[in-house]
Amino acid sequence: MKTELHPAAPAALAAVDQADPVAVLRRALELYHPAVALASSFSLEDLVLTDLLLAVRPDARVFALDTGRLNPETYECAEAVRRRYGLRIEWYFPRPEAVEPLEREKGLFSFRESVAARQECCFIRKVEPLNRALHGLQAWITGLRREQAVTRSALQVVETDAAHGGIIKINPLADWTLEQVWSYVREHKLPYNRLYDQGYVSIGCAPCTRAVAPGEDQRAGRWWWENPEHKECGLHTHGRKPQV
Ligand code: SF4
Repeated sequence: MKTELHPAAPAALAAVDQADPVAVLRRALELYHPAVALASSFSLEDLVLTDLLLAVRPDARVFALDTGRLNPETYECAEAVRRRYGLRIEWYFPRPEAVEPLEREKGLFSFRESVAARQECCFIRKVEPLNRALHGLQAWITGLRREQAVTRSALQVVETDAAHGGIIKINPLADWTLEQVWSYVREHKLPYNRLYDQGYVSIGCAPCTRAVAPGEDQRAGRWWWENPEHKECGLHTHGRKPQV
């Protein structure tokens, strides 16, 4: 994928106060809409960004990946978001011609067998659909935060996403804490995934996500059988080779 960017656009975005998510989102929409979209997994961060983004521009675009293995609570949250904003969520599914052979030949839980097997599943269910979602975009918006994981400690508000053809990746909440995120959710009474009330901190696919103990690392409930440095699904690579 190769996307032509206006040469002044990244600098114009970088010139905005990076600590002000609304200013960042507003400028991103001015520069790129409709070739910019929020990638939502209906995490707390994505709910905050959806609220901020649609307040700036009600027709801003939001896409989501339905891996086929999400928790019922995540679907309930997505539906609550759809209803609250009258939002047309752009859903992407894995290709049947990739999922069907995976499940027929390796079963329903092949991802437990090795990091490579897990990355194969993540590629089919997440990475490839993400590539389709990003096709034609000049920029995408994520809810990534620096404190979420060791793999995200170098995160910037505005980045060039080399893994996706050099498009712009915008992380308006990069320096927010989890407490700030929760404060916004509560203050604005946003609908949220009820798994957070059961000790979940980071929510992905149902079989690969579990609750964490108080004080545990925020990503400890994802792929808990792997080392922390492997805990990305290939959607976010931060200058490293895609983990697929
Ligand atoms: S998180 Fe688990 S079920 Fe979901 S795509 Fe990755 S390996 Fe597969």
